Amino acid sequence: MSTASSPFPGVPLIPYGHGHVRGLDAAELGTHGMEMDSLVRLGLPTVPGLTIPASRAGDLADTAVARGAVELLSALASRRVGQSERPMLIRLVASAPVPAAGLPPMVAGLGLCLDTAPALCAAIGRAEVLYETWSATVRSIAEGALGVPADDIDGVVLDNPDPAKRLHALLEMCERLGSRPYPDDPAEQVALAATAKLARWRSSRGRRARAAQSLPAGTPIALHLQALIIGPWARSGHGSATSRDPDSGAFAPSGVFHRGVRRNEPPGGPGEPVTQLPGGADLLREALATLEHHFNAVAHVGFELRDGELALLSAAPYDHPSPAAAVRLAVDLAADTMDRATAVRSVAPQQVQALLHPQLRLRGGEPLLVRGLAASPGAASGRITLSSVDAVERAADGVPTILVMTETTPADVPGLLAADAVVTTGGGLASHAAVVARGAGRPAVCGASALRVDPVAGRVSADGRELREGDVISVDGRTGEVYAGAVQVRPAAPSAELDVLLGWADDHRRLGVRANADTAADAASAVRLGAEGIGLCRTEHQFLGARLPLVRRVIMAADADDEREALVALADAQRADFRDLLRAVGDRPLTVRLLDAPMHEFLPHDGDYDDDRQAARAAALREANPMLGVRGVRLAVVRPGLYPAQVGALFAAWIDVAAEGVRPALEVMIPLVSIPRELALAAADVAAVATGVARRTGVDIPYRIGTMVETPRAALLAGQLAAHAEFLSFGTNDLTQLTYGFSRDDVESRLLATYIGRGLLPSSPFAELDGEGVGALLAIAIQRARAARPDITIGVCGEHGGDPASIALLEPLGLDYISCSPWRVPVARLAAAQARLNAAATRGATAAMISPDGPS
Ligand code: PEP
Ligand code: MG
Repeated sequence: MSTASSPFPGVPLIPYGHGHVRGLDAAELGTHGMEMDSLVRLGLPTVPGLTIPASRAGDLADTAVARGAVELLSALASRRVGQSERPMLIRLVASAPVPAAGLPPMVAGLGLCLDTAPALCAAIGRAEVLYETWSATVRSIAEGALGVPADDIDGVVLDNPDPAKRLHALLEMCERLGSRPYPDDPAEQVALAATAKLARWRSSRGRRARAAQSLPAGTPIALHLQALIIGPWARSGHGSATSRDPDSGAFAPSGVFHRGVRRNEPPGGPGEPVTQLPGGADLLREALATLEHHFNAVAHVGFELRDGELALLSAAPYDHPSPAAAVRLAVDLAADTMDRATAVRSVAPQQVQALLHPQLRLRGGEPLLVRGLAASPGAASGRITLSSVDAVERAADGVPTILVMTETTPADVPGLLAADAVVTTGGGLASHAAVVARGAGRPAVCGASALRVDPVAGRVSADGRELREGDVISVDGRTGEVYAGAVQVRPAAPSAELDVLLGWADDHRRLGVRANADTAADAASAVRLGAEGIGLCRTEHQFLGARLPLVRRVIMAADADDEREALVALADAQRADFRDLLRAVGDRPLTVRLLDAPMHEFLPHDGDYDDDRQAARAAALREANPMLGVRGVRLAVVRPGLYPAQVGALFAAWIDVAAEGVRPALEVMIPLVSIPRELALAAADVAAVATGVARRTGVDIPYRIGTMVETPRAALLAGQLAAHAEFLSFGTNDLTQLTYGFSRDDVESRLLATYIGRGLLPSSPFAELDGEGVGALLAIAIQRARAARPDITIGVCGEHGGDPASIALLEPLGLDYISCSPWRVPVARLAAAQARLNAAATRGATAAMISPDGPS
């Protein structure tokens, strides 16, 4: 390293901004030196300062070198320590070549002595501020360089709350117990402070901190001296600010500042908003605008203000911008310096999700009642209600309601939809409550297994806290947390900028994005949120609540007449539903999945039978494993009239809306197939209905037939399925359930925490697609289906279709579309664009993980 320009032979002292000229990098300048270098290069005002490079940091412990450094600092600041006219103090800061926790804390009050203090107190106007800083400085040097025992120092600090008295006691203690008295000479103070810092970094405490961060034990630190310019209280302070208003996302410096001199400890008190900065927040605007463009990110600065002059101490991209800020920044920068693809990539899909849903305004200290699975985003505060019937009534009375149950069934849907949020103690991310809540845009926490619900006694309890029905709780569906008591809720804040950004995302994505919607209202929301069609209408969801008996009658029909009557009633109800749905969908694709009714969700329960005959019939139909039972196409095989009745209603509804000029692109989808002949039978039934309709009405219904791929067997036989199917849609909820053999309703509350804790799973495979197993099945199925029928359309309609991490895995597989809950559509649009833009980077990794040959 060249030392030629140093005024002190042999020791390089690098003024801020000169590091790059000398070809120094973070290894020598430390992260702080690098940061200050780039601020100087950007032409921004910084505190005057210099770096003693990491390889020579120890030299600062030499008083001669320290004196030279103080001289150089004085020249840089055009001020002198001890001067009463333009006073300054010295601050010593350390930084490592990489961001590191456990660095020795800064020392801020170097240069003070009993002779010069009165003039400085007069300059600031507040003596106690100076004495606080000074006593903290003496304390750290006494302990770290003069060998004064820490216990004695602690005693003095505790005994002397008054900072001036504390300072005198510490100075006296240095004289009595230290290796030498605390010096008046600024250079000697600096040398001792450097000694203390380096000793702290080399101590066993410092080594432990490095080990905890996997940093090499020998990691060096650079030392930095800064001029701490003293100014009057009314016009001086220090603080931090970000470039964006967190609520609106608009460019506006926001943050707090504190009057007085910056100290080691966090400043006491909340501070004042930067809008009240002496001289105004405008002082920060230019610097923050420059930094936003430099970082292509929301900027965060640490600053000082002395006598109305701004100086930056630090600047970095802000790690946690609010969702509104992230979106608005991306759109603002794209109008200026950033290309649109970069703007699309710069916003995390989770931030879009946060904008679309209300959020709890947590202030810290809210009592946590229980933590469960974050099953559906959004937040609500409301009164605990323990039955869905009561939820409907309370909601009708305008009472904010949180439905709390062990689990929900189709009979609970009216209550679920009436409530502001739902909490279940059982069930997972693909459970009934989770799926319905996500579809309807209600916040949900599922699998909160520590919560005990006692509907008879009308109370819930968790972790020793008991609440009664009617008490208020607050639900955060984004984090899975439930709080006792009311928490303010910030409403959803979708913005014009979000629409702009999503429009750009649409320009960059390849995957189509459809929605899973069962009703006209959900379909309308989905279209509003940008869905290109409906990729899954679960027809069994049209028979929830009071209409559940329509399906129950079909399932439980005792004879052919009973069955026929039940089917007519079911078809009548469906025709009206389909008509509304078709109108909402318009000319877009609509994938109608024929009934997939897990028996246990539709059979009457104990104590709920009409008569003994019904009880006996229910008992006969009950299955040990209903999710593996007479579901999906299997019910249609044993009740052959079922699918023709549904399809008849669908086609009739299509003719009704076609007469109004609406021509949705119908896709009829057969669920839970595992034997290609099941699909062939069902497809033939559908074709027969179409032929009948054409004969009766003269209308050739344009429809496509396809199937869900939800069983591993269906995935492996996708080539054979393709012979009967114009499209395939992966039901990754069931496919995950059946690939792992994990119950989708139970595994998250029973096993998942332990499995994640023991490193067996990285996350829930029902939330994030399992690339190695389920993903490999998808890859095999796609390859075989396309080989058999090259123009086959292939999508995913399981919950993974709305999960950004899963979408990144799905994109390179060459699917045509993904389909997800309406409220996840914007998230999926952005994630699909990002997956496409990142495809080059991820293709290799994904190909290795998801390959028909398995992971390498
Ligand atoms: C699936 O299994 O992924 C699916 C979409 O169907 P359901 O969730 O209704 O079983
Ligand atoms: Mg399924």
